[in-house]
Amino acid sequence: MNSSGRVVVVGAGPVGLWLAAELALGGVRPVVLERELERSPHSKALGLHPRTLEVLALRGVEDGFLRTGGRAPGWHFGMLPTRLDFSALPTQFPFLLTQPQAETERLLEERARALGVRVLRGHRVTGLAQTGDEVVLEVAGPDGGYELRAGHVVGADGAGSAVREAAGIGFPGSESTFYGFLGDVELSDPPAPGASWHGEHGALMAAPLPDGRVRLVGYDPAAGAAPLTLDELRATARRIAGTDFGARSPSWLSRFGNATKVAARYREGRVLLAGDAAHRHFPAGGVGLNVGVQDAMNLGWKLASAVRGRAPESLLETYHAERWPVGVALGEHTRAQTVLITGVSAEGRAMRELFSGLLEGNRELARTLAMRLSALDVTYAEPGGDGVVGARAVLGEGLFRHFHAGTPVVLSADGGVVADGVPVVRVPAAELPRPGLAAALIRPDGHVWRVFEDAGEVAGAVRELWPAVGAGVSG
Ligand SMILES: Cc1cc2nc3c(=O)[nH]c(=O)nc-3n(C[C@H](O)[C@H](O)[C@H](O)COP(=O)(O)OP(=O)(O)OC[C@H]3O[C@@H](n4cnc5c(N)ncnc54)[C@H](O)[C@@H]3O)c2cc1C
Repeated sequence: MNSSGRVVVVGAGPVGLWLAAELALGGVRPVVLERELERSPHSKALGLHPRTLEVLALRGVEDGFLRTGGRAPGWHFGMLPTRLDFSALPTQFPFLLTQPQAETERLLEERARALGVRVLRGHRVTGLAQTGDEVVLEVAGPDGGYELRAGHVVGADGAGSAVREAAGIGFPGSESTFYGFLGDVELSDPPAPGASWHGEHGALMAAPLPDGRVRLVGYDPAAGAAPLTLDELRATARRIAGTDFGARSPSWLSRFGNATKVAARYREGRVLLAGDAAHRHFPAGGVGLNVGVQDAMNLGWKLASAVRGRAPESLLETYHAERWPVGVALGEHTRAQTVLITGVSAEGRAMRELFSGLLEGNRELARTLAMRLSALDVTYAEPGGDGVVGARAVLGEGLFRHFHAGTPVVLSADGGVVADGVPVVRVPAAELPRPGLAAALIRPDGHVWRVFEDAGEVAGAVRELWPAVGAGVSG
């Protein structure tokens, strides 16, 4: 095929896999290049937040996740004793789904492959060059090096992104100055699930894992960057929690730093970045994978539209405009949480006490933070606009299924609306984004695209924003 229609996704982590599936749904079947031969058995992330569950539900694949994951009614902010309550949030999924990253990736790969995506394992991208209207990738494959030409390349290749580096995109921010610890271990004397400790010797949280082990994770001010040993993990736990819980048989011992960076641009010509390749941070609040999947949801339909000629290439600029501020906000709130987690001095502990008390007594503050952590507050509304266009559409249970095909959807209070190529769904006027509307056009990613006081304008707007295109393309 002509390389201009080919899209290559670099990295088969959760973000690359969801993006590939979204592209395939949009009629562009990408190639995914992954350097590792096997998926890692170790799970960095352990949870899916409400907005990610909505994203999965917009494509009708949430059941597999809900069946295998556990439900927690809320989550922590900076490991404060007062937990954030998700149960009253405005979503069909008001909980945190506990789910190891390895299982999330297995399900996402299953989804991508079902849509015809090719995942090539053992193929490491080593360089790229943009020439005119194509990108030339250098790849080290199982049978040696080769070049691959593509119209667009997405770097979903994690924090050390080779794509970002080769495209010359800066990654400004701060380097790691301290490290957290993580041990997936068997415990003879396990604490209650989700139990946590904080004091002058550090912070520790215990999270149960599906294989019967428990993750001991936290911050030890006495530790450095050297590889973690079981003896050290036990000594750390004794200092912080007063016991090592009889920890033994680790399946994974690791450390992670507090480097916090956001890519200078999410798009450089025909190269785009998503997930950890675009933003990295201390894993406080368990949000990185979630934000990355939401990047992919924003990018997938836009890139497919641009490749298929449904939309101008400039639509891709809105990906940077909408998601870069989310990456910056992610760095800010994880840094704020990091101060709370690592605040082991008398002053730090006083700050935690004060903040936790405020959260306990101020429901509005707690709700605001819960909306932030769960990503339900993410809006692409323009400053000075009506606050509705660009906002996340709050969908009732029966509405998600209309988005399964990956097209926009018209919600209409007026029975007479017709529009070519997109579902038109009759809803009570109260379910439209604001009072006084006759209809709303919702983007494939579940954000409000346009609103109408006059239902007669819907068909024309759909023709302009979602014109018909020919058959899909594959790489
Ligand atoms: C200790 C810890 C706990 C965490 N807990 C949570 C949590 O609870 N919730 C949460 O949401 N997030 C959490 N995160 C963050 C989360 O794990 C990451 O945000 C997530 O993995 C990012 O996904 P990704 O697909 O962008 O990148 P990655 O998962 O890093 O995947 C990138 C893929 O690209 C491949 N690759 C890299 N370079 C190349 C190359 N040159 N060529 C080809 N392939 C390449 C890699 O092999 C990898 O498969 C945690 C992180 C850590 C460290």
